Amino acid sequence: MTSGTGAETGTPPGPGIRLTRIIATIGPASADIGTIRAMIRAGMDIARLNLSHGTLQDHQETISRIRLAATEARKLVAIMIDIPGPKLRVRSMPGPEISFFPQDHVVLASEPDAGELGIGPASYIPQMCEGDTMLLADGAVTLTVTSIGPSIRAEVITGGTIRQGAGVVIPGRRPDIPYVNEELKKNLSFAAELNPDFIALSFVGSAGDITTVRDILTDDHRIIPLIAKIETKLAVDLFDEILEAADGIMVARGDLGVELPIACVPHVQKEIIRSCNCAGKPVITATEMLESMVEHGRPTRAEVTDVANAIVDGTDATMLSAETSIGKDPARAIAMMAEIACETERHLPYRQILEERKEWHGSGPSEIISYSACYLANELASRAIVAFTRSGITAERVSRCRPGTPILAITPDEQIARRLLNRWGVIPCIHAPIHTADELFFIALELAHEHDLTRSGDRLVIIAGNFAGIQGRTNMIKVQTVA
Ligand code: PEP
Repeated sequence: MTSGTGAETGTPPGPGIRLTRIIATIGPASADIGTIRAMIRAGMDIARLNLSHGTLQDHQETISRIRLAATEARKLVAIMIDIPGPKLRVRSMPGPEISFFPQDHVVLASEPDAGELGIGPASYIPQMCEGDTMLLADGAVTLTVTSIGPSIRAEVITGGTIRQGAGVVIPGRRPDIPYVNEELKKNLSFAAELNPDFIALSFVGSAGDITTVRDILTDDHRIIPLIAKIETKLAVDLFDEILEAADGIMVARGDLGVELPIACVPHVQKEIIRSCNCAGKPVITATEMLESMVEHGRPTRAEVTDVANAIVDGTDATMLSAETSIGKDPARAIAMMAEIACETERHLPYRQILEERKEWHGSGPSEIISYSACYLANELASRAIVAFTRSGITAERVSRCRPGTPILAITPDEQIARRLLNRWGVIPCIHAPIHTADELFFIALELAHEHDLTRSGDRLVIIAGNFAGIQGRTNMIKVQTVA
């Protein structure tokens, strides 16, 4: 067993410093300004708004509240808009919640009669056969199709409770419509108008889906990082090309766990995380991480271990869905996730991780300098790496090496700063452009001090990418002892 004090691990982060990023989904339980403020205090780095639920105006107003609360708290909080793919959902039902029991008979239709479940959009209903399995609400309820006519008749195999908006999955069946259809274009144009820091794309099935979306945004003069949600077998099969096309990946375990046999989720998750780490792209692990906190004040041991394992495996961010969107205490769920992350990070084998990642970086000076910064920080027990970065890339390269020290990323661009919030260990910070090397060293110390990342006698590792615009000095590394 290791005490995680540094000798065995490399340098672990200092007290109160969290390196794993936390994404929290906003919903009815968390859209009010008071809860948003509490969630920011508890450690929300990215607020995720799911366009599958709520009206466009609701989302607009929620984003204004998040931005206001972030400004008040003097914290950066990024916005991720999650746009639905061709996901079939329960659109209407007799009552706000409905419970099913084994052997019940259910009728589902795109234009339901009284007492039936309305599902849609109609064009998302795939060709089905008798005997097909239907999974409602991420598998909470399992049905077997008994007959197909103008409506679908099914028998309940596994009972459970669903709410309106629950997803409907028929494993192995896909609707016969293109990924980029009119609905997606409408959502994309709305999402873009909200000026988010990230767009998450549900149900991507190929690199082409991502490039088509990117082309639409580019034609509209928008450059927004695209996070591909991996939630189908097809996306798992074509993962390498999707990873290459996307700016980041989300392991969307809710749908993945119904589209694939559920027992496949752990190893698929591990493989995805490793591939993303290797490619230097950010990866988010999502869904049911602290699910029991939807109802309860404490998570289960298994949930705590799940969050910790995702961090050990190399996830950049962990995401809360129902825990914060409809849960009893969204801020508490975030605080719990932050606590698990901090404790897990104290025990990661940073030296070993860095050694392994030596093989992963390119041979250019920038990559070698970023790697060296992590090596120095580990060996010198630095409390921070300070990375000056105009585009964010310098900080991203350092983050990829998973140092145990936080990376204070100083950039003049507020949007770049927010976009760095999905990277392991990065504490983004905005500062006006810097013109001289002396100013750069002075600002590094001052901002590290402001963020409580230095003590007298500490050694800071400072690197500068293409920041200061000083010819020939753009690839720089310096160890600065704090007076
Ligand atoms: C998921 O399926 O795990 C997911 C994150 O997507 P959504 O919340 O849109 O179902």
